Amino acid sequence: MQSDDNDLRDKLKRLGSNLAWAWDFGAQSVFRDLDPERWESGGHDPMAQLGTLTDAELDAAARAHDLHPRVDRLLLEHAHYLERRTDWGPTRAGVLAGGPVAYFSAEFGLHESLPIYSGGLGVLSGDHVKSASDLGLPLVAVGLLYAGGYFTQHFDATGWQHETYPTVDPEVQPLSLVHDSTGQPLRIQLSTREGILHAGVWEANVGRIRLFLLDSDVEENDEQDRGLTARLYGGDRHMRARQELLLGVGGVRALHAMGIRPGVYHLNEGHSAFAPLEATRELMAREGRSFADASFQVASRTVFTTHTPVPAGHDRFEPDLVEQQLGPLRDALGISERELLGLGRVRPDDGHETFCMTVLALKLSHRANGVSALHGQVSRKMWTCLWPGRPEQDVPIGHITNGVHLPTWLAPAMSRVYDEVLPLGWRRAQAEPSTWAPIERVEDLTLWTARTSLKEELIRFVRHRAPERARLRGEDESVAKAMESALAADRLLIGFARRFATYKRAGLVLDDLDRLDRLVNHPERPLTLIFAGKAHPKDDGGKAVLQRVFQVSREPRFLGKVVLLEGYDIAVGRQLASGVDVWLNNPRRPLEASGTSGQKVVLNGGLNCSIPDGWWAEAYDGMNGFSIGTGGVHMDPNVQDARDAVDLMHTLEDEVVPLYYDRDEHGRPHRWLTRVRRSIATLAWRFNSDRMVKDYAAGLYLPAAGLELADFRHL
Ligand SMILES: *Cc1c(COP(=O)(O)O)cnc(C)c1O
Repeated sequence: MQSDDNDLRDKLKRLGSNLAWAWDFGAQSVFRDLDPERWESGGHDPMAQLGTLTDAELDAAARAHDLHPRVDRLLLEHAHYLERRTDWGPTRAGVLAGGPVAYFSAEFGLHESLPIYSGGLGVLSGDHVKSASDLGLPLVAVGLLYAGGYFTQHFDATGWQHETYPTVDPEVQPLSLVHDSTGQPLRIQLSTREGILHAGVWEANVGRIRLFLLDSDVEENDEQDRGLTARLYGGDRHMRARQELLLGVGGVRALHAMGIRPGVYHLNEGHSAFAPLEATRELMAREGRSFADASFQVASRTVFTTHTPVPAGHDRFEPDLVEQQLGPLRDALGISERELLGLGRVRPDDGHETFCMTVLALKLSHRANGVSALHGQVSRKMWTCLWPGRPEQDVPIGHITNGVHLPTWLAPAMSRVYDEVLPLGWRRAQAEPSTWAPIERVEDLTLWTARTSLKEELIRFVRHRAPERARLRGEDESVAKAMESALAADRLLIGFARRFATYKRAGLVLDDLDRLDRLVNHPERPLTLIFAGKAHPKDDGGKAVLQRVFQVSREPRFLGKVVLLEGYDIAVGRQLASGVDVWLNNPRRPLEASGTSGQKVVLNGGLNCSIPDGWWAEAYDGMNGFSIGTGGVHMDPNVQDARDAVDLMHTLEDEVVPLYYDRDEHGRPHRWLTRVRRSIATLAWRFNSDRMVKDYAAGLYLPAAGLELADFRHL
């Protein structure tokens, strides 16, 4: 018996050691069955959970849940997944195997148990890597390991946000230390004018993709440098510059040290824009080329994705700081301080201009893109200054609209609906419009049943978490009690969850509370609102908005009907995106580069109600969701906000609420469900990350590598 348990423990460890379990509900249900309570309280962390389970507990769970055959089957399926040669990647883009894409990002949102992401950018990177794995695209990913992760959120009794930092212990994460050829832990050294910065490298297996995370917490460093990668987006400019040095320069060096020769560099946002400089240095050293020649070669292989439509949102450093951190690398490149600084400036010789990572990235890459059609346009306009004399439409920044990873974000109840009606193998053909056409034939009953069960699941989750947290922060027992019966399946449920950056305007729907009161407490057609989100620790404006939402939610007329959920993360995001009827998105156009949370809602059969900004500006067709206004902007943001707040109320009162409560003789909202089917049919195939990664491969990676997409008809 003993050896049997050890056998099972080893197999579970193997299953947990590749993050592919994070998008496999079968694997997750095995881990949950080991001990459902521990699974929840431990934040869905397989490795940590295995560590606390005794042999006796494991044995009992194995008997009760028939774990042996289930785990064997999962391991077999996983082995098959790793080996699959028939996917899009090997058949169409297999030539990249000679020089894989190196994908750099400052954050990766793969699963809630690995908190090295803060929001949309990280989740996008995670989804990109997962789809690259599913498609079998030759790609390696590079990021940083943040030992203190991104913060966990708590509200005090007044609704003010406080932060605590989790410990990301690589020893209990599915991470392994990378070793060098002598068997020692691999070390990367970076020279700066302040001395040498050392780093180790961890490897995470994300399906078929290797993700390398650099870690400055090594003995060779002094205390300060050991803490360099402690927090994501923490610290001052100096720390930020050194983190970006580590990510970009350190990342390229780490790949080189492991013998990986990338064919393409993809800089996901400007944080990693130092990478091409190191790649240039390497090329110069290897082939004896000049800086001009080598940096041109590297630029032709570099792809840059910008995510920031606000000029103030771009990373900028003072010249002294750049010289301090990059000085030795600059020496090796044989360029002057003026030349280096010029690479990060719109006007190279303007001594007053700070060094901008986006400008650097644009100058060091021959291919650049925004993340939605509208954002591409905004970016071209913003950066015309870099291509003087060119008309705006000829500025070489294109766009690839973001998408979401279907297996991660699609809940099982809706997945079963698709299994029933979509063609066999639909998941692998998810980026084809025809795959989704049969959804138009799904019956109301089937769809409504799945939707209702997902909504009830969300309500159970809220009714558990909200009162628990209210009691923890010492709120009145009447509040906790009200939370135990918060929301209700027969009321229209609207969700709003994202980072509480002020441009996202979480408070817009609270602009006229009496009008909202009439909607929320309507005798026949009530609605409920659920909010979640984190403000950046230094963003007091964002925290003030959170506090306002909190306080409104404590007004007697809104208690249990307007709910603010604590601790937004990938797990909460998954619950919300699958359970709400409507997803509300009202950024100040055109500041939402893309947004992806609404795409998760599409897959789960909810409807989007959004300002036509980011992805929604190209997604809305008049019948597949709701538009708030028609995209008007105003020079005075206060005017724009006031107008949008009124438009939002109109959309809710005149369109969303009436349609939801328009019931047929079976008590089901036929016209609503027609819109849901339309939403899925027109949007699911476009806004998934398989489509996105294929677009990157065909439109940017292969051309950057000097290659073409293989035409599989000839294979
Ligand atoms: C999807 C997701 C986001 C992205 O949200 P948008 O604001 O719509 O871009 C942010 N955070 C988490 C946890 C998510 O799951």
